[in-house]
Amino acid sequence: MGVHGDEPGKATEWPGALDVRSLLEGGWRPTPIRDFILKVHSRCNLACDYCYMYEMADQGWRRQPRRMSRQVLEWTAQRIGEHARANRLSDVQVVLHGGEPLLAGVDHLRYAIETILGAGEPDVGVGFSVQTNGVLLDELYLDLFAEYGVSVGVSVDGDEEGHDLHRRRADGRGSYRDVLGGLERLVGPRYRHLFGGLLSTIELRNDPVVTYESLLAFAPPEMDFLLPHGNWDTPPPGRPPDESTPYGDWLIAIFDRWYAGEADVVRIRLFSEIIRLLFGRMSASEAVGLSPVAVAVVETNGEIEQVDSLKSAYEGAAGTRLHVSRDPFDTVLSLPSVAARQIGRRALSDQCLACAAHEVCGGGLYPHRYRSGTGFRNPSVFCHDLYKLISHIRDVLGRDLGLMAIESPAPVG
Ligand code: SF4
Repeated sequence: MGVHGDEPGKATEWPGALDVRSLLEGGWRPTPIRDFILKVHSRCNLACDYCYMYEMADQGWRRQPRRMSRQVLEWTAQRIGEHARANRLSDVQVVLHGGEPLLAGVDHLRYAIETILGAGEPDVGVGFSVQTNGVLLDELYLDLFAEYGVSVGVSVDGDEEGHDLHRRRADGRGSYRDVLGGLERLVGPRYRHLFGGLLSTIELRNDPVVTYESLLAFAPPEMDFLLPHGNWDTPPPGRPPDESTPYGDWLIAIFDRWYAGEADVVRIRLFSEIIRLLFGRMSASEAVGLSPVAVAVVETNGEIEQVDSLKSAYEGAAGTRLHVSRDPFDTVLSLPSVAARQIGRRALSDQCLACAAHEVCGGGLYPHRYRSGTGFRNPSVFCHDLYKLISHIRDVLGRDLGLMAIESPAPVG
């Protein structure tokens, strides 16, 4: 593993040579980390074939211990408390993540939560959430989550047929029936208040409206549709190098259904963020917009990494060579690869800067911009999809608000 830009052959790729000192001298200040993703367990009880953790470029999980040790949890808790104090943060968010975090066991997750709470100042709020595949979600876990107010997000890709296309066990059996059991427990009256939302990875072969309605049946407070990971070297499935917009069209079908129906009762994160941005507000998502990304990941062995979707780009792309046993989280903020995610339009390619949608699109999710040779200073591999989706939402809102649609040049990329 290495610092991004220090990888052999990567030093000339952007942002390998980004001069953080010059940025600081020019007045830029890093945004402290508020979101801490803890890989409490590095393996999974499913074997989804699109998983960036196990199926894509970075295979670093193979050398990770299965479970985060108590020692690493204690170091991590101290570092989070230290970072919050040093940066005078009023609150932080901790995501219990994996692999599949519930494989860590109820007692271990309780230890993680209590250790983090114990290491913080009383006036620093800690919000906990867990992102699970739902298979192990039983009353024991739900009682623990209820005790500490842990918000529960579940990954589900649609109806049984759509979900089981990818989300299978290692022996090939679909997981939908097991996920359904966990979800039904979560959405029942006793635990519904813990329901954070549903995450669904887009599969073009699945009907978008059927997928949306399948998720809607659980009445989630929020859902999000994730573009599958890919980049210019390894394009996402069904995304040919032309001006077609298969993902844009898929999402527009859901947007139109949602906007005409349930927009006031369920939040769809991607759409809500685009709408915020169209109204000139900051985004709270790294998928779109130019807001600084302030997230750190702690691997099960205590290594500090960047968002793990970067692992879809190349081996070591998320690495920092930092470790919670010796390095404060502030150290992360001085890395070129982290600064690159916090400098807004200065991180965009010339093509994006010339695009009328760039304030809203922000070049798309950072890992999707990767191309070997130039690095991350490229338009998103989903450029045409994003442009079409943003234009559509802008036009629908503009029509409703009686505003003129803004003339925009064609996207480039
Ligand atoms: S050129 Fe493409 S990726 Fe870049 S901002 Fe415009 S739509 Fe987004």
